[in-house]
Amino acid sequence: MTEIVDVAIIGAGPYGLSIAAHLAGAGVDCRIFGTPMHTWRTSMPEGMVLKSEGNASNLYDPGGKLTLQQYCSRNGLPYAHTGYPIPLTTFIDYGIAFQRQFVPHLEDRQVAAAIPTSDGFELWFQEGGLARARRLIVAAGIRAYEYIPPEIEELPRSLVSHSAAHVKVSGFAGQKVAIVGGGASAVNLAALLHKNDAEVTLIVREDAVAYCGPPQPRTWLDRIKEPESGLGTGWRSWACCAMPGVFHAMPERFRLMVVRKHLPAAPGWTLQPLVDGVVPTIAGATIARARESGGRVNLELALRSGGTRVLTADHVIAGTGYRVDMRRLAFLGQDMLDRLDCIDHTPRLSRQFESSIPGLFFVGTAAANSFGPMMRFAYGANFAAKRLTGYLSHSPMRGSVRRDRVKPSEWTKEGLAGTTG
Ligand SMILES: Cc1cc2nc3c(=O)[nH]c(=O)nc-3n(C[C@H](O)[C@H](O)[C@H](O)COP(=O)(O)OP(=O)(O)OC[C@H]3O[C@@H](n4cnc5c(N)ncnc54)[C@H](O)[C@@H]3O)c2cc1C
Repeated sequence: MTEIVDVAIIGAGPYGLSIAAHLAGAGVDCRIFGTPMHTWRTSMPEGMVLKSEGNASNLYDPGGKLTLQQYCSRNGLPYAHTGYPIPLTTFIDYGIAFQRQFVPHLEDRQVAAAIPTSDGFELWFQEGGLARARRLIVAAGIRAYEYIPPEIEELPRSLVSHSAAHVKVSGFAGQKVAIVGGGASAVNLAALLHKNDAEVTLIVREDAVAYCGPPQPRTWLDRIKEPESGLGTGWRSWACCAMPGVFHAMPERFRLMVVRKHLPAAPGWTLQPLVDGVVPTIAGATIARARESGGRVNLELALRSGGTRVLTADHVIAGTGYRVDMRRLAFLGQDMLDRLDCIDHTPRLSRQFESSIPGLFFVGTAAANSFGPMMRFAYGANFAAKRLTGYLSHSPMRGSVRRDRVKPSEWTKEGLAGTTG
């Protein structure tokens, strides 16, 4: 019989890794499964820079020993709390260094099925084999929730794709590519495709692409009127960062409205000179219909100003983001879905991130409707790791094994003393 651990984590992005580091520090018997920083390595465009500022782009260990700033200084890389865009490659390398140091016990395996049992959960792996855990934390990130609008979804996959499918784009050189969306993913890809000699057109629903502004010098009055936080400036963002617990206590309709409206996925200011006036953009347009014709796509666009316009492209990329929907998590079987209390297809969570299925927890973007927009960003991993660790370490399940607590000083630069990875 496979040994049962107290906690298992699915996913090794900023949330899974930060929580695993905290649980190890608290001596909780835990296993974690996934490929480290996989989303960042396989579904973001090459050459991208982060939208979040340096001081909001961390993974979190309990002693705060390896922040992005410390990693950059250790490796002679440029860093600033704000105003210096962090290259994607730096963040990925930092995440992997964090994993090696604090989560050397990570198991690079993909969970194919999570099945509730009388004493917890069984996890079955794509690679074969199973693991058992009394409690399960789902930190599976965003990939399962890729959204392609229905008007183009039925087109053959050779003609339409989601922005997450493109890390390198050199294969599109000389081709006509239409990108739908005005958010970070769409605009990032538009810049990259243009640089790689594709003939790109950006189709944006709004009247113009709304870029996040660059940080400006701020007076003390600015700081009072619009305080800084991990989600940018302004009282609303500040409140979301400072009081996720209060957010959780707000009425459900209010929470859903804030998550839907606050902090849309606007592109970062560094992209503006690469796209504005450089990449042809059709603003105020939505796709009315799409049709394949002779191996190409004819897009009929409905213009907000009235009338329609037809655009022909060799390929359409949906930079239309992600819509959290528990039915898209392939490892949750119908039995789990039937028992999961959801609002808008996202799990209703307790103050401890626990779902209606006892022992099943969700973090990251799946928890945004409960704890606010901060959960859509790496910055929210600090709160999630602390809150979950406080709860799980003080409520061990019957029969669980306690590991020795790991003091922050016991973590060496190379890894957790006395463990193998
Ligand atoms: C283009 C783009 C730019 C972004 N820029 C920023 C930014 O600048 N700053 C920021 O904070 N956020 C940014 N985000 C949002 C970012 O995706 C989240 O902040 C971040 O990924 C949250 O971390 P996570 O651990 O929840 O998810 P992820 O990083 O997505 O990690 C989840 C992990 O779970 C794994 N997993 C899923 N299913 C399984 C399974 N069945 N078995 C094993 N493993 C599994 C995945 O492979 C993945 O590695 C951006 C997103 C996009 C698309």
